[in-house]
Amino acid sequence: MLDRIRIVLIGTSHPGNIGATARAMHNMGLTDLVLVAPRCEPLTSESISRASGADHLVHQAKVVDTLEQAVADCTLAVGASARSRTLPWPMITPRALGERLPQELAGADARVALVFGREDSGLSNAELQRCHAHVHIPTNPDFSSLNLAAAVQVLAYECRLAWLAAAGAETEQEEEPHQPLASHDELEHYFAHLERTLIAIGFHDPALPRQLMARLRRFTLRARPERMELNILRGILAATEKGAAAQRPDAAPLQSPEEARREP
Ligand code: SAH
Repeated sequence: MLDRIRIVLIGTSHPGNIGATARAMHNMGLTDLVLVAPRCEPLTSESISRASGADHLVHQAKVVDTLEQAVADCTLAVGASARSRTLPWPMITPRALGERLPQELAGADARVALVFGREDSGLSNAELQRCHAHVHIPTNPDFSSLNLAAAVQVLAYECRLAWLAAAGAETEQEEEPHQPLASHDELEHYFAHLERTLIAIGFHDPALPRQLMARLRRFTLRARPERMELNILRGILAATEKGAAAQRPDAAPLQSPEEARREP
């Protein structure tokens, strides 16, 4: 379970925080570190010294340009945030997050990302909206922002507690096999297709967005769609696009519903 929990750091600017994150992860048995567009050299004497013997995780860390690349294969992404944002999003406590992990990671393809922001400005709204849920470590409201590696430490500890509890509670009973959930990548393709279709049928005006796409994202992510369910929705979008095109004056004759349903 711990192998399939990824720590994602976005735009980190202090090598010491990368080293201290590696130490926090190794202490708790996590191994998968991804750095998104770091604003510093990850491997420095400072990061190695702060890693205190866990610098192999910094050496091993994958460096990518975007959050999308970091979480493309993840079935659950949770953004760690020191503040509440303008658009309310599903919130989860660190303890509840840990408790959810054994179930979340039960499927063979399942992978969870915990996403952390920049030291100076945290995560952007666009980044937070790419996460299924947000986790806030309860702190003094007058001084709510933890050091980045300290925040990683708290959540990594919750992961370990949950893993220990699950290992202790292991029983003979096998649950129903899980249907594979849609990955981040598949969800992003769906959102792009949805937006295109809503524009094509005149429902969505990108010049006047009114948070429509953000609200639809929140709704869809809350539902945790399976891959198969997302394929059905994409089939509906393809049929909608075809129907809309057929109603234009220069259009070819309409297909039968059977033909429309045959779309991928
Ligand atoms: N100044 C930033 C916070 C930066 S702290 C801001 O106001 O948003 C760096 C990162 O550590 C944050 O982006 C977040 O991912 C994590 N973090 C810090 N304090 C946290 C808290 N109380 N709960 C959850 N994550 C926290």
